[in-house]
Amino acid sequence: MRKKIVAGNWKMNMDYTAGVSLFSEVINMVKDEVRGEQEVVVCPPFVHLHSLSQLASQHAKISIGAQNCHQAESGAYTGEVSASMILSVGAEYVILGHSERRQYFGETNELLAKKTDIAIRTGLKPIFCIGETLEERNNKVHFDVIRKQLAEGVFHLTAEDFAKVVLAYEPVWAIGTGVTASPEQAQEVHAFIRKEVEGRYGDALAANTTILYGGSCNPKNAPELFSQADIDGGLIGGASLKSRDFTDIAKVFNQ
Ligand code: PEP
Repeated sequence: MRKKIVAGNWKMNMDYTAGVSLFSEVINMVKDEVRGEQEVVVCPPFVHLHSLSQLASQHAKISIGAQNCHQAESGAYTGEVSASMILSVGAEYVILGHSERRQYFGETNELLAKKTDIAIRTGLKPIFCIGETLEERNNKVHFDVIRKQLAEGVFHLTAEDFAKVVLAYEPVWAIGTGVTASPEQAQEVHAFIRKEVEGRYGDALAANTTILYGGSCNPKNAPELFSQADIDGGLIGGASLKSRDFTDIAKVFNQ
């Protein structure tokens, strides 16, 4: 059975004190209230990775991820952070291809394929984001866009490596806007993504691939979204900055 995951993307929010305080609240709430097989992942800014990984190390349910990594192993890339540095401070995941990275930092599918390679080679699990803009959806090319993002970003991987990837469908028009894809819209795209994975890697691997939904997910809309057949959890932005909301979203999978 594929893994259910609720992952929080803090983006560029929370200074050190606020971050430790928020994460301590999340740990306590998750410990007391989250019951089931779901995994909770928190992706803070780089500077918090080490401290939060240490705090998380006592809690089997909670893992830490970074929000990006550089595509090279090491070297003269001032200001950048490598996959091995991220791994060395205790993180397990790395978000790659978030639409904000694509939009503001010019990250292309080609570059993201390299980042995916180094992340996997290093031992990190990529949370690989895909999704269309509003204009692309209005022009009815969203399936083509997603097919290309998959083909160029991750489908070069061997089946063994692809099995380490978590996919996240994030319609750009729903990120940070308060507008959520309807459960039907999200399910339609998730089913399409799983079919694409099946076409490339076969049905067993497709059935085991975790596909998260991201885009203005909150405790109110999460139950219906997560009840869709092909939605295996969420990548949560704004609501991950509130311990109560984030925990309530994670609790949707409680057994
Ligand atoms: C995100 O940026 O990954 C995201 C889903 O943000 P929000 O939940 O705030 O829409």
